[in-house]
Amino acid sequence: MKALHDDLGAAATALGQHGHLLTTVDELVDAARSGSLWYLTFGLACCAVEMMHAAASRYDFDRFGMMPRPSPRQADLMIVAGTVTNKMAPALRRIYDQMAEPRYVISMGSCANGGGYYHYAYSVLRGVDRIVPVDVYVPGCPPTAEALLYGAMQLQRKIRERRTPYRASDDLLARGPRAAGGWLRRLLAGGRGRGD
Ligand code: SF4
Repeated sequence: MKALHDDLGAAATALGQHGHLLTTVDELVDAARSGSLWYLTFGLACCAVEMMHAAASRYDFDRFGMMPRPSPRQADLMIVAGTVTNKMAPALRRIYDQMAEPRYVISMGSCANGGGYYHYAYSVLRGVDRIVPVDVYVPGCPPTAEALLYGAMQLQRKIRERRTPYRASDDLLARGPRAAGGWLRRLLAGGRGRGD
């Protein structure tokens, strides 16, 4: 956020001094994108309470241009907060597929990052990055609202610097079921994941 303010401050100064401003459409679009991330709230367990906390008055996500938008139609960012079970995984992927590009994912908490306490449970996915590409991982059990806020700021920075990661899992899925591997194929078809 501070970097964006600095950029805007520098732009305003240049405009004031020279009467014109040189930039690229890409930079303008990136600034707009990073400053208006509408997030799809995918709250699945305890971490979701901290996500709600981040949106409430104390931390006030809105001041970062981040608005909760629990619909894939207009959301740019999915925040996965909580334990992703194998049963929920196909629904999560379907919602992700319904989001328009460019779309981003924050994985919030140990459970979403890697299964957490339930890593060895038969019913839990060992990390949401097995089914969707993750841009930022927020560690903790649960991460605090401040940690989520920091994660969101890191994502904003990555968007402005065009450093969102190579989307290997998108490619994996695009290359077809053989490349995706049996466990992922079964999972997305509603079966069980690698923990089975
Ligand atoms: S990481 Fe901890 S707080 Fe978050 S959903 Fe898992 S058990 Fe709950």
